[in-house]
Amino acid sequence: MTDSAVALAPWIAAQRASLLAQRGHAWLLQGPSGLGQYALGMELVRAWLCDAPTAQGACGQCGSCHAIDVRTHADLCVLMPEVHMLALGWPLSEKAQADIDDKKRKPSREIRVEAMRDAVEFSQRTSARGRGKAVLVYPAEQMNHITANALLKTLEEPPGDVRFVLASEAAHQLLPTIRSRCLGHAMVWPSEADMLQWLAAQGVEPAAAAAHLRAAGGRPDDALVLARSGRSPQSWAALPQAIARGDVAALGDWAPAQVIDALQKLCHDLLAASVGAAPRYFASGDLPKPPPLGALTRWSRALAKAARTADHPFNAGLMLEALVAQARNTLHSRH
Ligand SMILES: [Zn+2]
Repeated sequence: MTDSAVALAPWIAAQRASLLAQRGHAWLLQGPSGLGQYALGMELVRAWLCDAPTAQGACGQCGSCHAIDVRTHADLCVLMPEVHMLALGWPLSEKAQADIDDKKRKPSREIRVEAMRDAVEFSQRTSARGRGKAVLVYPAEQMNHITANALLKTLEEPPGDVRFVLASEAAHQLLPTIRSRCLGHAMVWPSEADMLQWLAAQGVEPAAAAAHLRAAGGRPDDALVLARSGRSPQSWAALPQAIARGDVAALGDWAPAQVIDALQKLCHDLLAASVGAAPRYFASGDLPKPPPLGALTRWSRALAKAARTADHPFNAGLMLEALVAQARNTLHSRH
């Protein structure tokens, strides 16, 4: 899915106008995932590089806007893990693409040192279109120590006409020195009414929109992904009971990371229920009776551990069965 496939949400447009009204050569957009950091970051760089920007952002018509739309702007450098670059339709460097095509390695899940070197070089070059340059880093927490330090040097002594947007879903993981070099912006959490209206405008059935929004923990971008994945709100509502029965088929063809995410949401809601708090992802009536707190805490730790290795399961089918068996045992645990 490209960013142009989704109409810009009104709360992103409002934040764009407010940020464009301020000066700053480096922004850090921060907040939990699913609030539109990438979309807002793109809107800022589009406006900075545009030939005819207004207070509301880029014109959408000029050569610069067009070059960004087709992912070939000479004055824009996008720094992302390769898996994100590919998913969002950004071209990799020739060398990186060749290595992946030749199966020498898989697309990276962090921002590579080589890509950062290219970005530092880019920031020292002269602007090609004469409107300055922009670097977008997303998700910024995917820099390791080496790449973060390389970026820090450039942030400390910016070569003049280059501006930065760091978009992060876990800003606490960034080096404090990087955070202190940027102007911080906390992503706005939109109202439920605004989110439902926006989801309806994207073609999501109003009846399903609220359920998807709940399953996504109130994050509009994630709710839209869920709605477009073809999963029904009914199957999400039925999930806790299916897991309690040990029904692996209820998870259908989900990837291990998605299964762990769903189980973590179930575990979260059961923990909440067992201390008398409201659930966040499921309706109360869809949850089984919570098992003892000790069992839930052990399950929560096991899921966190599984989440760290979910990208490289030894055998996805076996992993799925083990996860469901563990969940079922937890739900039926008496101590
Ligand atoms: Zn333009």
